[in-house]
Amino acid sequence: MADPAEFKAKQEDTKPIKLGTQEGRKWPIKEGFTPEVLQKMEELLPSKLNRIVATSLAGCIHCGMCSEACHYTQSIPEDKKLLPAYKADRFRKWYKYRYDWMAKVFPSFVGAQPLTKELAEEMYDKLWGGCTMCRRCTFNCPMGVDYGMLVRAARGIMCEAGRIPQHLQDTIDTHYNAGNNMAVPHDEFVETIEWIEEELQDEDGCENYTIPLDKRGAKYFLTLNPREPKYYPLTIQATAKVLNAAGVDFTISSRYWDLTNYAMFNGIDKDAKLFASWIFDEMKRLDCEYLLSGECGHGYRGLRWELPNWLGGVPFKITSVMELFARLIQEGRIKLDKSAWDGDVFTYHDSCNIARSGGVWEEPRTVITAAVNDFREMEHNRENSFCCGGGGGALAMPEFSPRRIAAGKIKADEIRATGATVVLQSCHNCTDQLKEICEHYKIHAKVMNLAELLSEAIVIA
Ligand code: SF4
Ligand code: SF4
Repeated sequence: MADPAEFKAKQEDTKPIKLGTQEGRKWPIKEGFTPEVLQKMEELLPSKLNRIVATSLAGCIHCGMCSEACHYTQSIPEDKKLLPAYKADRFRKWYKYRYDWMAKVFPSFVGAQPLTKELAEEMYDKLWGGCTMCRRCTFNCPMGVDYGMLVRAARGIMCEAGRIPQHLQDTIDTHYNAGNNMAVPHDEFVETIEWIEEELQDEDGCENYTIPLDKRGAKYFLTLNPREPKYYPLTIQATAKVLNAAGVDFTISSRYWDLTNYAMFNGIDKDAKLFASWIFDEMKRLDCEYLLSGECGHGYRGLRWELPNWLGGVPFKITSVMELFARLIQEGRIKLDKSAWDGDVFTYHDSCNIARSGGVWEEPRTVITAAVNDFREMEHNRENSFCCGGGGGALAMPEFSPRRIAAGKIKADEIRATGATVVLQSCHNCTDQLKEICEHYKIHAKVMNLAELLSEAIVIA
C-alpha cells in the first residue's frame, strides 16, 4: 500500500499552482471628489502622518532651492504650478488647516486652507501626474523635505478614499489577485523559462548553460520584472548567460519571482507588505543565501531598502545583478571583449531608485567601462541624475502621458549632448520612458540594459 504521506505529496505536486490571493479584487474607484470622498480623506489624514511625513509637511520654509532640481520645472519652465514646493503645498495647506495652531487665528498667514473639491483636484493632478517621487528636490532642500514620502502619503490618502488613476490601481490589483503584476500563470511562466533556456543553449558555447527553477539551497534567488517573461525574454536569457559564464549558483522561483511593488506608488502599505512577504516566503522555501534583484529601479529599492522595514528585518542578504555583475568583473570571473561594441557610443542613465534612493551608481560604471571603449557621462549623473520622467508609476497613468513626455525633455537634451548611440540603464520603467523620449525628441539611440550589454561582449570559455 502506498505511503499516505507520499501519496499526498504526489497529489500536491500535480495540483495546478494558484498564485496570489485569487480574490478577484477590483479597487472601488470613485468618479470625483464628492463630499463623501473628501470626508473619507479627512478621516484618513492622521493615519498617514508618520515622523518623516509630518516634518516634511511642517518644515518647508519656501526658500525655493528645490525649484531648479525638478525635471518637470526644468523641462516645462513656463508652468510655475509644477514647482516642487507649489505641488507639495496642495497637501501642506490642508495639513496646516488641520494641525497648525496659527491657522486657527491667521489661516492665510500660514497658507492654510480647508480641503475643498478644488484643492483636492489640484492635489490629484500634481501629486499623481506631476511628481515621479524621484527625490532630486529632497537632495537640494536645506530642511530635508522628503518629497517621496510626502507624495506617497498624499497618494495613499487619495487611493484609500477611492481617487487613483485606474490603470495604476489595476496593475496593483492584478499583482494582488494573481501573484505578479501581469497575471502570468505558473505553468506559462515555467514553459517560458524552459523555452528561454533552450534558446540560451542554442548560443555558441552555451550548450550546458541552465536556468534552474526552484533549486533549493542555491546561493542566489534571482527575481524578475514581469515585463521580462512577457515582452523581454532576451533580458532573462542575457542575465542567465552572464551568470552561467561566471559559474554563479542561482535559481528562479516558479511561483513568486515578481520583484515589482507598485504599492510603493499608491501608498497602500498593506499591499506593499503582502507582495514583499511572498518574496520573503519563497526565499525561505528555497533556502537561498542572497535575494538577487534583477534590473528594475523601484523593484530594487523595494527589495533592498523597503522590504526589511516592512517585514521587520530579514535573515538573508539582499543585492542586485548590477552589483553582482560588477563583483564578477572585479574578481575576474567573466572576460569581456570590448571590441564587440566598437563603433557605438554609450551613456548611462541612473535610475532614481537605484542611484539616488538606492546608493548604487559606481557598480554600473564598473560594468560599462569593462565592456565598452567609448562611454560618456551625461551632465547630471549618479545621485544627481535627473529622473527620466517615467518613475513613480508614471508609465501606468496614461491620462498624464503628454506631461510625462514633456517632462522628459531635460533628460533627452542631456542624452543628445553625449552623442550616444546606446543609452544604458537598469530599469524597465526607464527603458520604456527612454525609448519614448528618444523617439519623441528624435534621438537616434538604442536603449539597453546591462545584462544585454555584457551578453554581447562576454567571452565564453
Ligand atoms: S528647498 Fe525645501 S524648504 Fe525650500 S522650498 Fe523647497 S521644499 Fe521648501
Ligand atoms: S520628487 Fe522629483 S518629480 Fe517630485 S517634485 Fe521632487 S524633483 Fe520633482
